[in-house]
Amino acid sequence: MKVILLGPPGAGKGTQAARIAEKLQVTKAASGDLFRNNINNNTELGQLAKSYMDRGVLVPDDVTIKLIMDWVDGAEQASGFLLDGFPRTLGQAGALDRAMSDKGGLDLVLYINVPNAELIRRLAGRFICRDCQTPYHESFSPPKAAGVCDNCGGDVYQRDDDKAEVVGKRLEVFFAETEPLVEYYRKAGNLKEINGEASIKDVGDAIEAVLS
Ligand code: AMP
Repeated sequence: MKVILLGPPGAGKGTQAARIAEKLQVTKAASGDLFRNNINNNTELGQLAKSYMDRGVLVPDDVTIKLIMDWVDGAEQASGFLLDGFPRTLGQAGALDRAMSDKGGLDLVLYINVPNAELIRRLAGRFICRDCQTPYHESFSPPKAAGVCDNCGGDVYQRDDDKAEVVGKRLEVFFAETEPLVEYYRKAGNLKEINGEASIKDVGDAIEAVLS
């Protein structure tokens, strides 16, 4: 299975991704996590990505497409994969389609849809692990010990781009650049829309029903 998770920031893509990858027995990558790993390791790519991410805008297509295509071409992804946060532009979607054209194409695009007001509420309370990037929310899914990741013991912090000043810009960018992909994949015939407003468990169950 080659699956894409599409949705606005705060829709719960990262939260659902681990469960989906486990269910499908495929590897997963989140473009945002790959950029943040590069920032943590202070690579040239990380420095470049940070200059865009801090402003809540997208990293340019050429850089992003290369990063993801290198991952998709990896041996572990040959039997399937889950992509979270890529593609985010029509240019990225076209590049992925071309790369998949001789591999049977994409199987499924899961679009997690959540109204704007709810997204803002969720993003304001979101925290992630600095090391393994597991997402948390201060009210809905807090770590067992404050500030400590349940998964790896890493430091749980609020991303700079989840702060109120940047969140509005990220949502604006989503509606301008990424939302057109919903129509693109609907026309391609492989889009499934999930109501992401429900609880983490109910959204997970709805996704599982689609996967089954
Ligand atoms: P995320 O962790 O998915 O919310 O992404 C955080 C930030 O990383 C975004 O606001 C963008 O600046 C950058 N980013 C992640 N994925 C992409 C992508 N597919 N294309 C361009 N920029 C991206």
